Amino acid sequence: MKNVQRNNYRPLPLCDTHFHLIYPETVESTINIFREITDYFDISRITMNCISCGSGHRSIDFPNNVKGIYVRDRLNEARADSAFVYGSFTHLFDGTDTAESYLAQVKRLYDIGFDGFKMLEGKPEFRKKLGHPLCDEIFDKSYAFMEEAGFPVKMHLGDPYTAWGPKESISPYALSRGWWYGDGTYPSFEELHQEVYGVMKKFPKLKLCLAHFFFLGHNTDELRKFFDTYENVSVDLTPGASMFKGFTEHYNDAVKFFEEYSDRIFFGSDTYNRPVEGDAFDKYEQSGDAGHRINLVRHCLEKSEDMEIEEGHLGFLKPLNLSDKVLRDIYYGNHARLHPTARNTDKALARAYAEEMLEIINCDFHKFAVPEEKATEEQNLRTIIGYYS
Ligand SMILES: [Zn+2]
Repeated sequence: MKNVQRNNYRPLPLCDTHFHLIYPETVESTINIFREITDYFDISRITMNCISCGSGHRSIDFPNNVKGIYVRDRLNEARADSAFVYGSFTHLFDGTDTAESYLAQVKRLYDIGFDGFKMLEGKPEFRKKLGHPLCDEIFDKSYAFMEEAGFPVKMHLGDPYTAWGPKESISPYALSRGWWYGDGTYPSFEELHQEVYGVMKKFPKLKLCLAHFFFLGHNTDELRKFFDTYENVSVDLTPGASMFKGFTEHYNDAVKFFEEYSDRIFFGSDTYNRPVEGDAFDKYEQSGDAGHRINLVRHCLEKSEDMEIEEGHLGFLKPLNLSDKVLRDIYYGNHARLHPTARNTDKALARAYAEEMLEIINCDFHKFAVPEEKATEEQNLRTIIGYYS
């Protein structure tokens, strides 16, 4: 029995807008993992968000974009428009990162045929390393291009506001990952949001989707103002569970908000290309591992029985029990409107990009890369170059 039937979810088409290829797997294994997950969870479309810098999960991030486009094209060969891919910036964190170099990267990804752009730059540790605001003029040319081309952007901005609070209040897991920002060396929660408002002031038509509900689950009033000011901004529902905690604490406001703005909210789960052993039921329903966030989000949107989160660490969630009409927008309709169909790949450009990545991972710069990972990425790039030849 598969996920929808087992959990008695509503039989609605589902698009998951928040997948990553974050683990250094072979492209073949990644394709198999995503096929199995989308089959088990009855997901008809996915958007993969490539992280080509600062993933924290591997020693070589650069080839992630081109792997993403290859995986998209392979998945779509089998079933048209089942996969979409967003590319991302590579930063060198030196004087060679300029307004022009960023624009060239965005244009290149657009010309190759990416469906949109991913920015992890607003994650506090990434933003700190970057050293300048997201509304800095160094990104203006890039945003201007995206706005003009209607090239959608998915941005991770902030983290739960509690991560700026007293250290004692942070969960042991968050602490172990370095997700505490209260030591005064990070931009504040409010400053980060102001940076996004600064971007939108300059580029008011930008199709900007803030991942993780813009971390405003506790404050839908602020989000309402933002939505009412800019017609093309939206959010996704990818957990942390803290946003659902916010909905529980402001329950009536949250339900009203979802009804009113169902056309601005996307389903997402942060599902990875992580190989997990066992049969589908064990992996996805029992272990709390791969794909478990899909259940968290679906339960919180569809059901009416309260749910314990993180073994009670975050208390209980009161699900929103939304109507089918609202769920149809969130689960599928909004994505279908934004992306009627996947973009076509310019094979010569994709191949040239893969060839360049192969050169880069073999240069001096990567002498400290994990050898097995380097071998996997080399193999991946050779596969990709062959495919686009
Ligand atoms: Zn993510």
